[in-house]
Amino acid sequence: MATTTTPETAATETTPETYRAAVVHRFHDPLTVDHVPWRELAAGQVRVKVEASGLCHTDIHAAHGDWPVKPSPPFIPGHEGVGIVVELGPGVTEVAVGDRVAMPWLGYACGSCDYCVSGWETLCLEQKNMGYSIDGGFGEFAVAYARYVVKVPAGIDPFDAAPLTCAGVTTYKAVKVAGTRSSDLVAVFGVGGLGHMAIQYAAIAGGRVIAVDLIDDKLELARELGAEFTVNAAKEDPVQAIQALGGADQAIALAVSPRAFEQAYGSLRRGGTLVFVALPADNDVTLPIFETVLNGITIVGSIVGTRTDLREVFELHAAGKTHVTREIRPLAEVNEAIADVEAGRVTARIVFAP
Ligand SMILES: [Zn+2]
Ligand SMILES: [Zn+2]
Repeated sequence: MATTTTPETAATETTPETYRAAVVHRFHDPLTVDHVPWRELAAGQVRVKVEASGLCHTDIHAAHGDWPVKPSPPFIPGHEGVGIVVELGPGVTEVAVGDRVAMPWLGYACGSCDYCVSGWETLCLEQKNMGYSIDGGFGEFAVAYARYVVKVPAGIDPFDAAPLTCAGVTTYKAVKVAGTRSSDLVAVFGVGGLGHMAIQYAAIAGGRVIAVDLIDDKLELARELGAEFTVNAAKEDPVQAIQALGGADQAIALAVSPRAFEQAYGSLRRGGTLVFVALPADNDVTLPIFETVLNGITIVGSIVGTRTDLREVFELHAAGKTHVTREIRPLAEVNEAIADVEAGRVTARIVFAP
């Protein structure tokens, strides 16, 4: 992607020469809202007029180049983009102009490898990721692959649909992977954009939820959303508190701190399952081998979810089973929003209006 400094021109409404988008030019530098060039659609692509785009912690890691596999600046972050299809590239049959779609992290996959054909497209080696290896939703427009967008059912507010597109589907899948069944005790570590959804999906699956965080406001939100127990890990040891309840059948690690992963491990009962979801910049966690073997512990990684998972997430929301806690901000305030998320000043999710 190349960026220009050309001011917005008076080109026709359907084909402006440029549009505004938030761009990462260099890791750790603030993003700049630039006028980026309108480009032609390739086969299978669609152009989406973005209505809402959520800010995920992954976008911040992308902008910092925190992870072992890094994006290549300049790039446009955002993998919770939702908007209306305004143009179809050659050969597109999956969606029509006027459809509202979500543009998730899994922006493209090959469609024919073992993973793709067995319902594990999220593990495809050929995958492209929105806002990371291809430009994402932090703009007035975005280009996506028609096969990998998911239609948003009528009646869902696009500002709700945006957080569901990553925070929702990722935690929905994590609860599926955890195997939560009725009466299971589920410990959710980290009540942010992801955690506030995880609590609801664990409860929908029949689990009794313990929410763990460091901030009382977030624990209050957790209770409102169905957590039966809460633990403030800044004030009490979550391992002790959860073991006192009998230990968790499943623990879901959503906080970007290796310490929280270790605590989540320690909170399990025998035969329990720990699901790794968050991706802290610090990539090291220390877990004991002996106890893992003797206690029959399962540790499993869970990355986002498939298109089917996202359809189910939208179905649940359309049926009124979930609540999205979010605040809307203008995309021009992207850097302030990132600072607020990093400082823990955001209760759940920020969603940008372009
Ligand atoms: Zn995300
Ligand atoms: Zn594949």
